[in-house]
Amino acid sequence: MIRGKSVVITGSTSGIGLAMARAFAAEGANVTLNGFGDQDAIEQQRRDIEDGFGVTAVYSGADVTKPAEIAEMIARAEESFGAVDVLVNNAGIQFVATVEDFPVEKWDAVIATNLSAVFHTCRCAVPGMKRRGWGRIINIASAHGLVASAGKAAYVAAKHGVVGLTKVVAIEAAEHGITANAICPGWVMTPLIAQQIETFAETTGRSVEEAKHEFVADKQPMARFIRPEDVGALAVFLAGDAAATITGASYSIDGGWTAQ
Ligand code: NAD
Repeated sequence: MIRGKSVVITGSTSGIGLAMARAFAAEGANVTLNGFGDQDAIEQQRRDIEDGFGVTAVYSGADVTKPAEIAEMIARAEESFGAVDVLVNNAGIQFVATVEDFPVEKWDAVIATNLSAVFHTCRCAVPGMKRRGWGRIINIASAHGLVASAGKAAYVAAKHGVVGLTKVVAIEAAEHGITANAICPGWVMTPLIAQQIETFAETTGRSVEEAKHEFVADKQPMARFIRPEDVGALAVFLAGDAAATITGASYSIDGGWTAQ
């Protein structure tokens, strides 16, 4: 039962995170939004969620690379809603370069955002979940949490780390009514991917439409993008009663990418 639960979703001002926030709100959950962006646009998204679904939505501008700001975000959500019942770790960034050319500060930023942040949110949210004897942790990893691609050293390392961390948290929390699972999407059309497609089109002289097709067909037998709302539906399922004994698992939603 998700109605009335408190859900914190990192990186939910855009793309997959925003779609998941709306999916949880549609089920009657109160949501804590988080992420960067234009403050007016974020306020509009927050209000749309409240007006559209009749729930309470609050916004935290916490930078997930800063452990103190994560602690504050979790504490505020617990204060506002009495709990963090569902924690969705979704904030993520990408940087593409070969290992020898990978800027050190970009490595640090990708690891901090995509991996260390997941440790810090879990560290802060698990004690409350244990006290209440109920919790759901959903970590948005990636197909790149299971397989690799050239040029993505930091991202692939971080996402493989997220899959491993998910398993540890699942085992540690198993006796407390808490589950922890990872979702491993293939290509989802969001600003994160649009940027990579534009760069690919520019560097290869392809049109954006051609680049889109080649990009997705190169990895996914289905040659079609995954919709953000479909990742939202999977996250809602993992938070629901039917998923009470699913833990430590990695769910692929990738058009067949990792079946190969
Ligand atoms: P996006 O760029 O649309 O959204 C990323 C979100 O993270 C934004 O809300 C942004 O403000 C937030 N964010 C970034 N750095 C942050 C920080 N330091 N603190 C707080 N928030 C921060 O990207 P997306 O495609 O929706 O990606 C969401 C997640 O899904 C990421 O973890 C990404 O790795 C993963 N993913 C995406 C795809 C895809 O094809 N789009 C595939 C697999 C996995």
